[in-house]
Amino acid sequence: MGSLGGLLALAAVAACNGPAVIVGPATAAVINTRAPQATWTPALSLTPADELTSTPLAGPLPTSGPTITPRATRAPTEPPPVTPCADSACAVAAQHFWLARPIPSGTSAAGRVYVDYVDRSYPYGSTQNDAREPHHGVEFFNGSGTPIIAAGAGTVVMAGDDQVVAFGPSTQFYGRLVVVELDQTYAGQHVFTLYGHMQSVSVAIGEHVEAGDALGLVGSTGVAIGPHLHFEVRVGENLYTATRNPELWLTPYTVDGTLYGTIAGRVVDPQGNRLPEVTVAIRPVNTQTDKPRNRFVLTYAADPQQINGDDRLQENFAIMDMPPGLYSVSVSTTKLYQQTLTVRPGELAFITFVVNPPGPRPTAAPVSDTPVLTESATPEGADETPTPEIVATP
Ligand SMILES: [Zn+2]
Repeated sequence: MGSLGGLLALAAVAACNGPAVIVGPATAAVINTRAPQATWTPALSLTPADELTSTPLAGPLPTSGPTITPRATRAPTEPPPVTPCADSACAVAAQHFWLARPIPSGTSAAGRVYVDYVDRSYPYGSTQNDAREPHHGVEFFNGSGTPIIAAGAGTVVMAGDDQVVAFGPSTQFYGRLVVVELDQTYAGQHVFTLYGHMQSVSVAIGEHVEAGDALGLVGSTGVAIGPHLHFEVRVGENLYTATRNPELWLTPYTVDGTLYGTIAGRVVDPQGNRLPEVTVAIRPVNTQTDKPRNRFVLTYAADPQQINGDDRLQENFAIMDMPPGLYSVSVSTTKLYQQTLTVRPGELAFITFVVNPPGPRPTAAPVSDTPVLTESATPEGADETPTPEIVATP
């Protein structure tokens, strides 16, 4: 991630200091550029420390600015230490499919099909192959103007844009957004749902909404590559560092009368440390669907701004909308680890892998004296002296 990662690490430090952070517009302008090789140069008149110094909101906010529920007097609570779930029975007891989808089902008046499922290319904790920051939410890819609806009943604590107060790693990140604090608490903790990149907002701070009530429309405000809804769940505090995987909160589909389930799990080393960015292969063996699909899920990336496991599960991967039935689940590090898992209708199925950590990840193409071959492997018996391919540079 290079210096961009360093910048975000600094921003993370700032974000930990209070419930809301004011960061200069120069920072936001930098964040707008998502190129992985971006080099960050401090603004001319500021040192990085100056630029990223956070200002906790001690007093009332400017009347024209957005506001959030004040929580400055409460120290962030450390989650109580838990023994992570070891099996699906524990996971079912910890299950909390409280939320409906934030995009309606069906089609618009113009016949456009609404996408009410989670995009699989950039799920929670993903870096999309190091192209992007670890994702603190999930995407619902829909065209501009698609309705956004409340996933659960609660009170609107933010409705507006993030020009002044950062709700992500910087200001001007989520653009127009809504945050709803749910009526229901989880283990005594507040639960928030966040809807980002909105084209327009149709609710006001202080309003109470029911699940399914309109909140506004899909857009691409803030840092967004094309129109979509960015959806987050936050537990405890309304902070970027307090997110959880929404796929563990959203109710799985019911398809032709069959309740689907959700799979979550832990991939840990023998010391119990969660291993980042390990591929988990989930293959249907005998499932209740006409269209069984293999799924490949990466465990959550490491992130100084905290990609969190569920309080009880301490999972590092999850995927919802899985047809019930029997699955083969495997992880390959120094060897192949394989288990079977049963998904029951409407339930959370849980699996734990204790594995040897993988070797170092392959590094980017090294600068080397040896010619680069276009073939990555030479089959047995092949010409033992392949001719290096000379690639002409334009
Ligand atoms: Zn997103």
